[in-house]
Amino acid sequence: MPAHPSRILVAEDEHLVATDLVMHLRDAGYKVVGPAPDGEAALEFARSADPDLALLDVRMPKRDGLSIAGEIYEELGIPAIILSAFSDDEYVRMAQQAGVFGYLVKPATGGQLRACIEVAWGAYVRACQSSKVNADLRRKLEERRIVERAKWILVQRKGLSEADAMHALQRHARSTRRKIVEVAQQLLDANELI
Ligand SMILES: [Mg+2]
Repeated sequence: MPAHPSRILVAEDEHLVATDLVMHLRDAGYKVVGPAPDGEAALEFARSADPDLALLDVRMPKRDGLSIAGEIYEELGIPAIILSAFSDDEYVRMAQQAGVFGYLVKPATGGQLRACIEVAWGAYVRACQSSKVNADLRRKLEERRIVERAKWILVQRKGLSEADAMHALQRHARSTRRKIVEVAQQLLDANELI
């Protein structure tokens, strides 16, 4: 995961605002994807042009920025920052529920854009890391469960103690240069055939 985002998708239906955003982003050293003039075009850019992060206007033709934000994050793992002319509680609450990584009230300066983009990226990277930690934990638990089941089969079939069954799996893993979970899985697969 890079330290900074590079490709920023811009979706904004007001041409002048879009031009301004593009200019600010390029000045700050980002590459611009788009600008998309409506929600559907934004989705297409998100799917085809591999942006790192999306800046989405709330009110756009076809699809609004908030509904797209959720979709591109869940489907494509692209974090979004919402741009809006409004800061009413209702909009802010909807943005909160949509799981966006930032909210900017228009017109945003180049400095505000850059700060919001970089902070949003940091939050996104942390979110990815913690979901990776969760995935790793789930995998470890699953592996432990497989080894436990294999051990139990040995206990029942061969009359071994639990400790001896574990040693037998470890020895077999060492001698065949495989992971213990692979040996255990093979034993479970074979057991299903019996
Ligand atoms: Mg608009």
